[in-house]
Amino acid sequence: MSVFLSALLLILLLPLAASHASPDEVFARQRELMLETQLRARDITDARVLRAMTDVPRHLFIPDSLSADAYEDRPLPIGYGQTISQPYIVALMTQLLHLPPQSAKVLEVGTGSGYQAAVLSRLAAEVYTIEIIPELAKSASARLKQMCYSNVFVREGDGYQGWKEHAPYDGIVVTAASTHVPPQLIEQLAEGGRMVIPVGSVFFAQYLMVVEKKNGKTTMQSVIPVRFVPLTGEHGKGWSP
Ligand code: SAM
Repeated sequence: MSVFLSALLLILLLPLAASHASPDEVFARQRELMLETQLRARDITDARVLRAMTDVPRHLFIPDSLSADAYEDRPLPIGYGQTISQPYIVALMTQLLHLPPQSAKVLEVGTGSGYQAAVLSRLAAEVYTIEIIPELAKSASARLKQMCYSNVFVREGDGYQGWKEHAPYDGIVVTAASTHVPPQLIEQLAEGGRMVIPVGSVFFAQYLMVVEKKNGKTTMQSVIPVRFVPLTGEHGKGWSP
């Protein structure tokens, strides 16, 4: 069945089924719809990424008052002026890492709600994630623990310097925009590893970039234009209007 037809069927059947379903079942169906209409309908094809996006309950990573909007095709506020990224962007960044099938180690800069880290934890052996806002670091850490994502390790701090103790990483995801690729993060990338990072300006264009380290050389490739909140901390001092 085509993506269009299966999405149409889901849209038509969802309200009928929802009338007899538990909240968990309703959210699970909304995730299925999200997969068809937002991910498969675009360019998300990696089965492991699609499985992780099916399994991780996005509605539990946002304020209760927004849970009805959890599976919409957009970022949502999580407090402190920050956002949880659009589901498609989370899936795309995860897919672009090309993580090896076993025992991958991943670094995320910008934990936010912990959602992207939870998705990554389904593809990696260990996920290290750093958040600069203490309240968000604390709440994400507690949420991930309570939900038994036991291979995710949260640290409060400035991710611009990475997390040297656990380097090298097979994948690095930066979920806030930077004017440049932080040199410490390139250093902490493993040979054959990939980093996905939005690069650009706060006010003008940002591009999602893939940085790859191969045979000691680093290459960069631009993927799509994006809009992220800025990377703050030491890096934030370098932002120019
Ligand atoms: N990945 C998050 C999620 O799944 O909810 C969304 C991240 S939000 C778009 C960007 C996050 O990066 C914010 O929580 C922000 O506080 C954090 N951030 C910004 N600059 C940072 C820095 N220098 N070090 C660590 N975290 C930073």
